[in-house]
Amino acid sequence: MRLNILGSGTSNGVPSIGCDCPVCRSADFRDQRMRASLYVMGAGGERLVIDTGPEFRLQAIRAGITRLDAVFLTHPHADHLHGLDDIRALTWESPIPVYGNEHTIAELKERFSYIFRQTQPGGGKPHIFPETVTGTLHIGRLTVTPIPVKHGVLDILGWKIAEEGAPGAAVYLTDTNAIPALSLGLINRPEILIIGALRAEPHPTHFSFDEALETAAGIQARRVYLTHLAHNNYHTAIEKYCLTFRKKRGLTGIFMGPAYDGLELELTPS
Ligand SMILES: [Zn+2]
Ligand SMILES: [Zn+2]
Ligand SMILES: [Zn+2]
Repeated sequence: MRLNILGSGTSNGVPSIGCDCPVCRSADFRDQRMRASLYVMGAGGERLVIDTGPEFRLQAIRAGITRLDAVFLTHPHADHLHGLDDIRALTWESPIPVYGNEHTIAELKERFSYIFRQTQPGGGKPHIFPETVTGTLHIGRLTVTPIPVKHGVLDILGWKIAEEGAPGAAVYLTDTNAIPALSLGLINRPEILIIGALRAEPHPTHFSFDEALETAAGIQARRVYLTHLAHNNYHTAIEKYCLTFRKKRGLTGIFMGPAYDGLELELTPS
C-alpha cells in the first residue's frame, strides 16, 4: 500500500490569501500546503481518498489519480469537503460510495443537494452514494476502520487502513484535539500515523505540535507525520521541533516529522 499526502495545510492553506509572512513567502516547496487530504493506493489496485478539499482537482492531477473506489470523509468542514464535486470525472462509469459518520453524511446531502435532485440533462454531477459508516469496511484487500475522535465539541472520524499481507496499519487522524480511550485501543501501534497538528501554540479544536507528538508517542506509532499545518512554521523548523521532542523524550527507532504535499509513504507487504 502506498500513501500520497495530497495536502498538508490547515483550512486557509499556505500561502494564505493576503498574508505576507515569511512562511507564506517561502521558496521551499514543502512550505506550500494545500488543504489536508490523503490518497491511498492498495497493492491490489484499490484507490481511496480521505477528504476532498477545495484543491482536490489540482491534487488529483498532481498525484495522477485516474479512478477511485471510494471516498472517506473525516468531517464536513469546508476545507475537507468542498472539492467533492470534482470527483465527478472519476465517477462517469460507475457511482462510488462516500463514507462518513451520520453528521457528515447529513451535511453532505444538504450542501450538495443538487447531486440528489433531478437536474437538466447535460449537467455533470458526481455519481455517488453517501453511506453512514457503522463499522469496519473492506475494499478489495484493504480493511478500513473508522476511528471516532473529538474536534472541539464535534464528533468526527479518523481512518485506519490495513492491507492484507502488509505489516501494521496506517492511521489518518486530522482535525482532532482529543482521542477517546476506546479509539486509542482501535489504533493499536500503527506503522504510520498521519496526525493533525496546527502549530506550536495551543488551539481549542486542534492538537498543537506537542499534543500530537505526545499522542503519537503514547500509541507507539513507528512513523509519525504531522499534517494540517498552519503558516506559523517553516517545514524545516517543524523538522527540528520533532527532532528536539524525540531527543527530549528519549524516543529511538521511530520517525517523527512534518508531512508535505506530494510526500509518498509505503507500507510494504511482508
Ligand atoms: Zn480542517
Ligand atoms: Zn502567512
Ligand atoms: Zn475541521
